[in-house]
Amino acid sequence: MTSNRSIGDNPTVDGGDSDSDSGVEYETVETPVLVIGAGAAGARTAISLAENGVSPLVIGKRDHGDAHTTWAAGGINAALGSRDPEDSPAIHAADTLNEGHMLNDPAGVETVTEVMPDRIRELEDWGTPFNATDEGAVEQRYFGAQSFRRTCFVGDRTGEAMLETLIGRAQELEVPYRENVQVTKLLSDGERVYGALGYDMNDGSFLLFRAGAVVLAAGGYSAVYDRHSSRDEENNGDGPALAYDAGARLMDAEFVQFHPTGMVAERYGERWEGRLVTEAVRGEGGRLFNADGERFMERYSPEQMELDARDVVARAIAREIAEGRGTENGGVYLDISHRDRSFIEERLPSMYARFADLGVDLAAESVEVAPTAHYSMGGVEIDFETGKTGVENLYAVGETTAGIHGANRLGGNSLAETVALGKIVGDHLAERSFADRPVLPASQQRLAREHFADLDAMAGEGSEVPEELLGELGDLLESHAGILRAEKAVVRVRGRCRLLADGRRSRAPGGPRAP
Ligand SMILES: Cc1cc2nc3c(=O)[nH]c(=O)nc-3n(C[C@H](O)[C@H](O)[C@H](O)COP(=O)(O)OP(=O)(O)OC[C@H]3O[C@@H](n4cnc5c(N)ncnc54)[C@H](O)[C@@H]3O)c2cc1C
Repeated sequence: MTSNRSIGDNPTVDGGDSDSDSGVEYETVETPVLVIGAGAAGARTAISLAENGVSPLVIGKRDHGDAHTTWAAGGINAALGSRDPEDSPAIHAADTLNEGHMLNDPAGVETVTEVMPDRIRELEDWGTPFNATDEGAVEQRYFGAQSFRRTCFVGDRTGEAMLETLIGRAQELEVPYRENVQVTKLLSDGERVYGALGYDMNDGSFLLFRAGAVVLAAGGYSAVYDRHSSRDEENNGDGPALAYDAGARLMDAEFVQFHPTGMVAERYGERWEGRLVTEAVRGEGGRLFNADGERFMERYSPEQMELDARDVVARAIAREIAEGRGTENGGVYLDISHRDRSFIEERLPSMYARFADLGVDLAAESVEVAPTAHYSMGGVEIDFETGKTGVENLYAVGETTAGIHGANRLGGNSLAETVALGKIVGDHLAERSFADRPVLPASQQRLAREHFADLDAMAGEGSEVPEELLGELGDLLESHAGILRAEKAVVRVRGRCRLLADGRRSRAPGGPRAP
């Protein structure tokens, strides 16, 4: 993608005038389509737009190429049948619906699973270095709850390799981008969206993006939990929150996926709290043991064992820990030391290196793991043929949305969703004309000025410390709305969250009791 740092030089985006009506200066940036999010979903959407002659502006709140997608390790699903020719998109769809407890959108699932073989071939053509079989086909491995070997991978750095490919392709198409921009509000009257407001994180200057359409590709919300597998500044719900504030509908917010194997802070240090030990470790034969040395999955899932659905394995681990059979650090053991060192080094290179840095030899000893908040199945409600939300000109794609994964995501399906729907949303949007953009209504100009004035005031002295609020929210959700939850406690947490949101923390009664 092309940097848009000196926006005046870029033909696709006009550098607007500063506006000081309210005493707060801001810059106006014009674009036909604003894509908020530079992960796989945003990048794939932008590629389709550019291939069809529309030049979108892509923005993200980190350095370009450093979206959360880079953390996806294990792989991406497509019924290619490289290893198991009996596999098909229909069986992929059935596995997805089963794993989602039939609460998925069936038509959306069918769309994603049907197009995935083409999306993988396309990624391969664009240069993604997928692991290959001896015959040169894309290699595929098992992930939990899959009927066949269906997960394509680039070692254990699949997301990073994919995003490099997508960005390379976007660069060929000269897609402009702007990095380190945080969007704080969408310009919306509740019926229609006109653009977005935010600030440049490098210098704090305010930005107004005027756009014919806005695509939210801003990731999920699993990082609102205390122990989570994302970076702290990512997946903290910006996408769904921006959409909700703009008038869009959210759905399934209670569906949070807890990955069974997060690292245990007490063993590896705070920095590693909740960080993922990829499912590929179990996919490649890793076994789970409790502190008594028992391979406890025999009791919970005698047939599928460690490769049962994520929610089944995560609940089993949580139960072992809750019932006193966990390690003294609050986890259980994951062990793949029965595999050859060379196999582990080849199939799980990042995991092998990470633990080696921590002084742990994955080929010789077990590691300590516990469930960690990992993925948000809930989010913005969209139409899966177009990406439309219920608000005119507002679209959404990727982890920010809800519906494909039902109550529980099949591992490897999230990366699949980003590219499958990214193309669909981009292709659909490119059919629209962005030639005549109406002037920004006075009400929206007023909204922008007021919002920037609020941001300006917040940058001074505020009544709350955001990190403290987030910490409190994380604690509450972790202890009372986590993987083992009871209705009473969840209802009380909801009340407490309302008080937090209203800034009435000091008057709120103590947190709910544990279930
Ligand atoms: C550790 C880990 C491993 C995973 N492994 C796999 C796997 O093996 N297979 C799989 O299918 N899935 C996996 N997932 C899930 C998968 O990585 C994500 O669901 C997927 O990458 C989401 O892509 P996305 O483009 O929707 O969002 P993201 O990659 O999260 O990108 C969001 C973008 O939005 C930007 N953004 C956010 N808020 C704002 C804002 N306010 N203003 C401006 N920009 C904003 C961010 O900067 C970023 O550019 C994994 C997840 C984790 C946490």
